[in-house]
Amino acid sequence: MMQNKIKSLILAGIISTGLLSGCGNKNSENTVKIAYLPITHSLAVLEEAQELEQENGIKMELVKFGSWSELLDALNSGRVDGASVLIELAMKSKQEGVGIKVVALGHHDGNVVVVSNAINSASDLKGKTFAIPHRQSSHNILLNETLAKGGLTTDDITITELAPTEMPSALASGQIDGYCVAEPFGAMGVSIHAGKVLYSSEELWEDSICCGLVLTDHFIEDRPEDAKQFVENYKKAGNALDTEKAMATAKQYFSQSEEVLATSLQWISYNNLEITEDTYNILTEKVKSYGLSDNPPAYSEFVKNDF
Ligand code: ZN
Repeated sequence: MMQNKIKSLILAGIISTGLLSGCGNKNSENTVKIAYLPITHSLAVLEEAQELEQENGIKMELVKFGSWSELLDALNSGRVDGASVLIELAMKSKQEGVGIKVVALGHHDGNVVVVSNAINSASDLKGKTFAIPHRQSSHNILLNETLAKGGLTTDDITITELAPTEMPSALASGQIDGYCVAEPFGAMGVSIHAGKVLYSSEELWEDSICCGLVLTDHFIEDRPEDAKQFVENYKKAGNALDTEKAMATAKQYFSQSEEVLATSLQWISYNNLEITEDTYNILTEKVKSYGLSDNPPAYSEFVKNDF
């Protein structure tokens, strides 16, 4: 009888442990945590989350952040499995030893240089104040390209780093004379008549790279099948993002007017998000020549296309 009791206790232990660990493992094994900022540049990852919810594959847990620095803290410390992030920030993390790979583009094009109504050409920016979100950004590169069009360099203007949400009102109040930042904040400046578009990104830098989808080495190595599936689903979601679908998803995640989103979405596309070696090498050249970094990671060590 004693033996039976022990047996049943052991059995109960096995069952409960089995159930608990079974449930726990299943959830964490199926979930991929992705960090994002509420900008139209991260729409492909938001679209993927929508599509995945309807399938029985891996589940995505979207983790929303209010600033790039908070998002990077989470990515660099491994609190998330990946992120949609400005590629230059990810390159910097990689350079500093963080184990991450960029596995796809965030989007094509999708940036504009917005200036006050008094400015009619790039050379008019001489002596003016211009805002970018972060020194490590394609917005900084696009600013350098803009200045070059007017025969200017960054020595001829004052550059300030501002939070994206503050830029439209800073332009309207005259605190700054222009800005370049992730969307929809360019469209917002235009919609409140604070300024106008001086250049779109494709006029300054053909096939520009701005945001990337990044995954941690930890996730890629521990869960190679999930990583492969995740990246395939991401590219599929990007290809499916026509204007109508992009608007529907954007309206669900962003608290912006339809007018702002419509303006913004006409500047951006999400099809074929693979990163080619040629476009990445052009990016690293610009990063070096405009002083963002002396030693950006090479394509072979940072970009992963072979899943
Ligand atoms: Zn971007």
